[in-house]
Amino acid sequence: MQNFTIFGNPVEHSKSPQMHNAGFKNINFDGNYTKTLLEDGNTIKEVFLSQNTKGANITVPHKEFAYKNADIIDELAIKIGAVNTYINENGKIKAYNTDAPGFYKAIEEFNPLNTVLLLGAGGTAKAIAVILRENNIDVTILNRSNNSKDFFTNIGCKFYNWDNMQLKYNTKNIIFNYDLIVNSTSAGLKDDNHPAPLELLKPLIKNSKYAFDCIYGKLTPFLQIAKEYNKQYKDGEDMLLYQGAIAFELFTNTKADSIVVEAMRRGLKES
Ligand code: NDP
Repeated sequence: MQNFTIFGNPVEHSKSPQMHNAGFKNINFDGNYTKTLLEDGNTIKEVFLSQNTKGANITVPHKEFAYKNADIIDELAIKIGAVNTYINENGKIKAYNTDAPGFYKAIEEFNPLNTVLLLGAGGTAKAIAVILRENNIDVTILNRSNNSKDFFTNIGCKFYNWDNMQLKYNTKNIIFNYDLIVNSTSAGLKDDNHPAPLELLKPLIKNSKYAFDCIYGKLTPFLQIAKEYNKQYKDGEDMLLYQGAIAFELFTNTKADSIVVEAMRRGLKES
């Protein structure tokens, strides 16, 4: 039997074991996926190899530590600077970022897209911005602070904080129009916060075609506004599922077709 795990801190809330074990069962793959609470991200390589793990996922707050500790890093992950998947290749760690293609697959139904407004500038926003830019989509970031501004401008994104977007909005009477608005902040995850001040957020959503929230399993305050404006919207469940399905393919060397993906979705929902 091959061992797989998810590293995080905290990790007890993770539904990845149920999702992957359901996929393994569906293709009769002899694998077992568990959770590992990892307190010190710098120990990830040592723990991964000492547990004789074939593959792993990495969640908050260890994705950047995992990147730094990998032996070989996939090209897309290098652009993002963070990884969420490890594969043990004869004692060497090959690392990938499946959040980015997972997100891209999750927004497939909104295609074609030319312009995206991305709320937030954290690790998830970096993965999303990179995959959108790789697909020649125009990306604007709106964050509460200037954190990671250089990362985003260096890959060709426009970058605003709340104050300077508000200023531009008010003084020049600009209406910002986007095909898709994405919440990649943690506002709404464990609270009822909006990802930007309402006087900005409401017209931005109103002038967008679609809305997507990376948070899954709830109608966040952000999605609530999209619903009120009759926008087509979705939460982050498919993003979670597809990042998992892409990792599953790396773990098992088997294509995750729609039957496997739906088995993984049931695993996720039953958990
Ligand atoms: P990070 O901590 O790296 O980034 C959080 C971002 O949110 C930062 O830009 C931060 O701003 C901003 N932020 C935090 N609180 C607020 C607030 N109250 N109002 C406005 N902005 C705020 O987190 P991640 O990028 O790792 O995760 C972001 C979200 O994406 C989480 O909700 C997570 O659950 C979700 N996610 C979903 C996945 C899925 O598969 N569906 C996968 C990965 C993540 P600042 O820079 O100023 O601190």
